[in-house]
Parts: sequence; structure tokens; C-alpha cells
Amino acid sequence: MSSILHFKILKHFPQLSHCLTTRHYEGDITTARGQEYFLKSYQFDQSNFILPKQVHGSEIQVIEDKGLLLSNKQFAADAVITKRKNIWIGVLVADCFPILIFEPSVNVIAVIHAGWRGIEQNIHLKTLKYLLEIMNCSIQHLLIGIGPGIGACCFEVGKEVSDKFVKRSTIAAQFVQPVSEQKALVDLRGLITSDFMMADIPLENIENMNYCTSCCSDLFYSYRNEGKNTGRMLLAARLNESSQDDK
Ligand SMILES: [Zn+2]
Repeated sequence: MSSILHFKILKHFPQLSHCLTTRHYEGDITTARGQEYFLKSYQFDQSNFILPKQVHGSEIQVIEDKGLLLSNKQFAADAVITKRKNIWIGVLVADCFPILIFEPSVNVIAVIHAGWRGIEQNIHLKTLKYLLEIMNCSIQHLLIGIGPGIGACCFEVGKEVSDKFVKRSTIAAQFVQPVSEQKALVDLRGLITSDFMMADIPLENIENMNYCTSCCSDLFYSYRNEGKNTGRMLLAARLNESSQDDK
């Protein structure tokens, strides 16, 4: 069983490293010790690792200099963007969707923690907008990996949640499947993918790791299956320094 997965479309860029841990990853990635082990395996130290305090919101944190790293302050955000080289940025997930966006011509990366609350607040589209408008990314060059998350097969919610998506748009409503008067299944992966496509991201630039975390409990942690004390998967990415770069 794999302990680390990679997105195929993001694997072959020398200037990008990324990984997604599974439940077979050695050590608990949610603890300082587990994170230290992760960094050591890539010969990095703790000051090169940014993990936001995830709050199921739509705040984006942009890492522009090392000050934030050295201040050791944990900031609340569900998306992190950086152009800085040699730092890892990451998000922790168990059912929520980890998303990695990379623009190879501008050399910028973003990681997103997207659960239903964040998706409802458009965290993925706000991050995309920031990349396009502030970071000058090109829509044709953006590559997006959407990792394992809870599938439409298992994400049954009450009407109070599914109605938020039904009311959002007729397209969003297509990803809600009522199962009874009070319950519905919501296809968050389908919705995120459709949102990116509607924003003109070419389909071939989007890779879905089509696993349901709740169905595939042999490979992933699932909050819904196992409760809040279950482990987490880490999606992490970094831009690498190349020999031509100015230090
Ligand atoms: Zn499932």
C-alpha cells in the first residue's frame, strides 16, 4: 500500500515537489514530531514548513517573505499561496478535498483545504481569482490536482446543507441528489471540477484523484467513518531552487 501519492500532471516539473500522504505514511503527520520526520526525509528543517490553522473559511494566506515563518505564528487560513522557493506549504485533510494548483510559467503554487463549508464560501474560486489577478497566472497554464475526498456515494447531508448548494446556482444544484425529504447526497468533487471548468480551466489541466476517503478506508483517513480522532493526510508542495535562480 502506498504511503505517498502524487498527481500525474504535476509530477514531472523539476521546479515543483509535492506529495500526498496516505494512512500508511509512517508517523502521525498531525504532530510536531511527525512533521519533523516529514521534513527530515526531504532534508528540511521546521522553519521551512507552513501549515495554516484550518478554519473551514475562505481566507487565503500569501507567503511573501520568511518573516511569517520565523515569527512562528500560526495563521488562520484554508488556502496558502507562495512564489517563494524552498518552503513547504501544506494542508491536512480527512474527507475534505486537498487541492494543489501550480502555474509553471510564473512559478507559483497554492494549496487549498476544501470542505463543504469552504466550497460553499468559494475558497477554490477565490484562490483561483487571486492567482489570475494578483499573481498574473495564465488560465491556460494553470494545472490543478484535486486529491482524495469524500465522494458523492458517502457524503449524505441534511437539507440545511444541501439547500445551500441548490440555491447557489442551477449548475451547483445538479451535484445534489435527494435521497429522502430531509437528506441528500452532495458531489463536492463534481462541483469543484465544474467550477474550475466554468472558470475556463481546460479539462486536461485538471486531475482528479478519484478516491472516496470514506469508501477507501484501507488507504485514507475518514472523519465521517472514524470520527474526529482519526488521522489526517498531508498535501504538501514546494517550489525548488534551481541553479539558475538568484538566491
Ligand atoms: Zn464513498
